[in-house]
Amino acid sequence: MSSSPQAHAELHFTGSGVSSGVAIGTAARLSSHARQPLFINVLPHRVPIEIKRLHRALHSARHHLESVKVRLKNEAGTTPAYFLDPYILMLNDAYLTQTIEDNIRQHRVNAEWAVKLSLESMLAACDRIDDEYLRERSADIRDVAYRLISILSGQRSELPTFKSPAILFAEDILPTVLAEMNTANILAIATDVGGWATHTAIIARSLGIPAVFGLQDCASRVEAGMPCIVDGTNGLVILNPRKNTQTAYLGRQAAEQRSRRDGLRLAQLPALTLDNVPCKLSANIEIQSELPMIPRYGAESIGLFRSEFLLAGENNDFPDEDVQIDAYRNVLDAARGTSATIRVFDFNQDILICGERENPEANPALGLHGVRLWLKHEAIARTQLRAILRAGAEGDLRILLPRVTCVSEVAAARALMESVRAELRAEGLPHAQTTQLGVMIEIPSAVFVCEHLAREADFISIGSNDLIQYLLAVDRTNEQVAHLYHPLHPAVLGSLRHIVEAAERTGKPVQMCGEMAANPLCAFALLGLGLRNFSLSPAALPQLKQLIRSVTIEAAQAFFHEAISLPTGAAIEEFARRTLGGDFLLGMSGNAFLKVVD
Ligand code: PEP
Ligand code: MG
Repeated sequence: MSSSPQAHAELHFTGSGVSSGVAIGTAARLSSHARQPLFINVLPHRVPIEIKRLHRALHSARHHLESVKVRLKNEAGTTPAYFLDPYILMLNDAYLTQTIEDNIRQHRVNAEWAVKLSLESMLAACDRIDDEYLRERSADIRDVAYRLISILSGQRSELPTFKSPAILFAEDILPTVLAEMNTANILAIATDVGGWATHTAIIARSLGIPAVFGLQDCASRVEAGMPCIVDGTNGLVILNPRKNTQTAYLGRQAAEQRSRRDGLRLAQLPALTLDNVPCKLSANIEIQSELPMIPRYGAESIGLFRSEFLLAGENNDFPDEDVQIDAYRNVLDAARGTSATIRVFDFNQDILICGERENPEANPALGLHGVRLWLKHEAIARTQLRAILRAGAEGDLRILLPRVTCVSEVAAARALMESVRAELRAEGLPHAQTTQLGVMIEIPSAVFVCEHLAREADFISIGSNDLIQYLLAVDRTNEQVAHLYHPLHPAVLGSLRHIVEAAERTGKPVQMCGEMAANPLCAFALLGLGLRNFSLSPAALPQLKQLIRSVTIEAAQAFFHEAISLPTGAAIEEFARRTLGGDFLLGMSGNAFLKVVD
């Protein structure tokens, strides 16, 4: 590339901005982690030796990660050492060990090859999962497998250290590799693959390292030392930036850094608008290791615990009652005397039967999922209800029903809950005497019967992630229609207003637990249409609080009143940008997810 006339042309690559912020610097390359294990057919007497090698490798991998964890914990700053827990757990997992041992015995192969075989079968199972988050957990499995293969084959290479600040380019970076690296000199990360929900992205966000993933073929076009810019807020990487591009980005970088500092400081202040209207901010949690983050980001309570994530890493076995009780108690403890809302398993048939379905559904998004599937499998539902009611003996643990479409589903769930309560009473087991039952509004039919649903339930929670996809017929995981996923579409705003009005008429509390409020333009519209309670990924809360504390409800209402009469999402977005002002939005991340075509 250096000899071509294009060598110094400014090049732009777009991907997903997974960790906001701007970095300006020079490139460093991290080579791919792929390690090819050797295939060796072993004689029967070597089988126990291979099994011993495997156990030694598991021990060594665990020991290594434990020591990295201690190092991270001791380092200054709040490095997310707990992100290593899932890997350590996986290395302790009896099923994983058993699967690899079985492969050694059945195929009479060396431990390295048996790890590779086990990895392939687990990745195939992950690929069949419909849920993006769970699918992206396959990166964690790959990470653990590569680590084992490296140890077994003695390939363990030293991690690169960067003596001077650099922007890291790679095809992919494994989460544990990132957690292990000394990140002091890593200004930003840019990779060809990956997305928002990968653990690498989560770690980058927690470390505050700007990152853009999914750049497709960027890494191969970068040379070490090349000047570059990573714009994690807008999902853009610029190679060989021109002088004026650099100057513009220096200004943006300064504004973003100021805003980030203010955001974390604001996290501990009340969520009050300029005209003193209080809002409530809660946290959405998927895995228990996220629980320690909650106080740092200023969440008042836990507004959504996606319990189906208890299935991850368990080979899709449903956790038994005791395992669930422990998990729900942990969630309740993390809520520190406030409330925690457990959403019952929001699963689909793939998860239920490990992908070996006889009659696959042509359209799973419109098939058996959410509350309808949960109610169909009464034994699973009863076990979960027993665990929630028992854990709820010690605090305000609430239940939330996903993907509700009609009132009869809520009535059936309530009847089941009361029958489980009667059962626990008869058994003399301590349990919650009353439990609030909430309904997620995330399917268009639920919007239209929202008032009936609100009367049947104790609270409602708007799942904007799904509501937008179902209203606009835009698959939220399909990159080809991503530009049509528009939260400010008038149909979305009209539906949300309808829900809020229904809640007001019934006097039932309403919160939004979808990610829409993470975008400042959307949050302004949501305040204007009457929402005051939000539950979001913890890291997104400071920015929402910053917006809340910078606007008046009066201004938000005036904006919404005019916005709702505009014909397109693009027009509403443009109006919101003008109303809030460019200076105000500068330094706020999340603007990227609105780049629309109507
Ligand atoms: C939603 O749909 O907005 C929601 C919170 O649920 P999930 O993202 O888990 O589907
Ligand atoms: Mg949903």
